[in-house]
Amino acid sequence: MKFAADRMLGRLAKWLRILGYDTVYRKNLSDEGFISLAREGRILLTRNTSLRDRLPPEQSVFITSDHYQDQLVTVIKALSLKPVRDAFFSRCTVCNTVLEPAQDVEDEVPEYIWETQHKFSRCRNCGKVYWPGTHYERTFERIKTLFRGRGIQILYR
Ligand SMILES: [Zn+2]
Repeated sequence: MKFAADRMLGRLAKWLRILGYDTVYRKNLSDEGFISLAREGRILLTRNTSLRDRLPPEQSVFITSDHYQDQLVTVIKALSLKPVRDAFFSRCTVCNTVLEPAQDVEDEVPEYIWETQHKFSRCRNCGKVYWPGTHYERTFERIKTLFRGRGIQILYR
């Protein structure tokens, strides 16, 4: 399932990408741009009633909360998504591109990271380098805590 998030939902888009979901987010996209993304098969995530009303109900999720955690739960529950652990951290949070393994990143990461980490990935589109580490663990703990409290199951496979 693929998404397009409207201008008001940048943080939600980032969190969906962290969970591995293909989520287009562009601040300068016009209403027509969003509608055409929906016509191409993306679910539109929107806080905008006029955008929502231009699409069939199954092609959008209307977001009312101001808080990204509630927004994320709304999307997951509305579409009965089953987040898969293996998909987490597989996508660039900046530009939505799927990450690829990378070895030659010594010049691109802090020295202590290079010395202590063994697995790196890079975004082919924007060049951002990622590595598992304490921030992954903290983020995963936040996701687990949020999901546990809202009755959302993470699939491990
Ligand atoms: Zn990127």
